[in-house]
Amino acid sequence: MTKFISEPKVYLVSRPSVDWEQVAAFLADEGVPGIPDSIRAGDDESAAVIEISARLCYMSYGRGRRDIEEFVTNLLSSKDGSVFEHVNYGFVFTGVSRSLTHELVRHRAGFAYSQRSQRYVDETDAPFVLPPALAMMDGDAEEAGLIIKGALEAASESYDRLVEVLQAAIPRDKFESRTDHRKAVRQAARAVLPNATETKIFVTGNVRAWRHFIEMRGAVFADVEIRNLALRVLEELQKEAPLLFGDFTIDELPDGTRTATPKYSKV
Ligand SMILES: Cc1cc2nc3c(=O)[nH]c(=O)nc-3n(C[C@H](O)[C@H](O)[C@H](O)COP(=O)(O)OP(=O)(O)OC[C@H]3O[C@@H](n4cnc5c(N)ncnc54)[C@H](O)[C@@H]3O)c2cc1C
Repeated sequence: MTKFISEPKVYLVSRPSVDWEQVAAFLADEGVPGIPDSIRAGDDESAAVIEISARLCYMSYGRGRRDIEEFVTNLLSSKDGSVFEHVNYGFVFTGVSRSLTHELVRHRAGFAYSQRSQRYVDETDAPFVLPPALAMMDGDAEEAGLIIKGALEAASESYDRLVEVLQAAIPRDKFESRTDHRKAVRQAARAVLPNATETKIFVTGNVRAWRHFIEMRGAVFADVEIRNLALRVLEELQKEAPLLFGDFTIDELPDGTRTATPKYSKV
């Protein structure tokens, strides 16, 4: 029975952390004011990393702007983006399509990726991600749904059949291990898997990179599936690091989808 998915799952699995003892030791060694006079971000570790790195440039601990919101906003508005690269967040995304991850991995600067392999992992029971357009249509949604689901079921059957046939057709003795033989079978059989095939991906990005990704993929001209994901990521990061992502506004379009727009573009 082929499974279909309509919504991604988004797990925020890693976040920055500060070793306050080491920060205090550094400040003491340098003879500058200690915490909290030097670091106004206090317990907000995401903003603290930004503040510690930015203040190091001018050794301005204990001097200058006292309000952390004003401090971070000044960095954003003056496009002092490099300090935002010190703060990393890691997400696991599941229930996303291969077409989404193909677009996602085009974002190079500041990102690291680990994606489920179609060569090592069997895709026999792989679910498929339905395009969000299906839920947005007024007329003929039923017919479009039948066409899409029919095509995906046929692809799934072709994959299963191909695996069976290739297992017998590709000589086992040409490979050192069973794993290598299985890999040869799966890497050939995946040729018939469509863009809609579900995949899972671990993505770590720094704040500068995530801001750029959300700006590009949260815009109205982005594909609806990746736009939905960008909005979900933004919602998590706005809770997690409000000072670093609070300038994005979220709007709802007449078709029910949403967009994200930053006040400070491409920091
Ligand atoms: C709506 C939409 C439609 C698209 N359509 C297509 C399409 O039809 N075909 C297609 O091929 N792609 C398409 N793309 C992908 C797009 O061209 C980019 O590859 C993708 O958005 C990644 O963004 P980026 O180039 O800013 O790279 P990122 O890796 O996110 O880099 C961030 C920034 O770092 C800098 N940077 C990164 N790498 C370099 C480098 N090597 N040299 C210099 N500066 C660098 C740039 O300033 C860049 O903007 C589309 C993207 C969107 C949002």
